[in-house]
Amino acid sequence: MERLYPRFIVIHHTAGFDVPALTIDRYHAERGFGIKITSPKPLVEEYAKRGFKRVSDGVMVSIGYHYLIRADGCVEKGRPDFARGAHCTAQSMNFQSIGVALTGNFDSKDNPSGKKGHIAPTLGQIEALKKLVFYLMEIYQIPGENVIGHKQVKNASTSCPGDRFEFKV
Ligand SMILES: [Zn+2]
Repeated sequence: MERLYPRFIVIHHTAGFDVPALTIDRYHAERGFGIKITSPKPLVEEYAKRGFKRVSDGVMVSIGYHYLIRADGCVEKGRPDFARGAHCTAQSMNFQSIGVALTGNFDSKDNPSGKKGHIAPTLGQIEALKKLVFYLMEIYQIPGENVIGHKQVKNASTSCPGDRFEFKV
């Protein structure tokens, strides 16, 4: 399995409704984002118990993000920190960043009235994001300027996480 060396934190919106990590895992499985996790065993068991797809010698984890922050502020674990992401191909970010996504669609053009999910981050999401980002910055010694929105990654042609998303470290 290809490993990750986390030097950045890249923040996304899911551009959709407030759904669990397992639902996004199914979408991303269809797009072929899956990686096989075979160790450590307790982690494999944890994923399997949560409903991730068990395979002969491990479990498939397809959700592209490492963390998903739900509308109520709960943080759901996506793929393990040590595994490469599938959330931003530009600048090889999948190999050097932790991907954090907030559920919702914060783009005023794509989602003017909330038909594609909640239109702005909830207070709970921002609080949880702050906590998570500071925790990750500390354990991986990531500097503040390396905490960026998806659209700030050079050559990433996206509006993600939307113009209604505001966050400063
Ligand atoms: Zn994104």
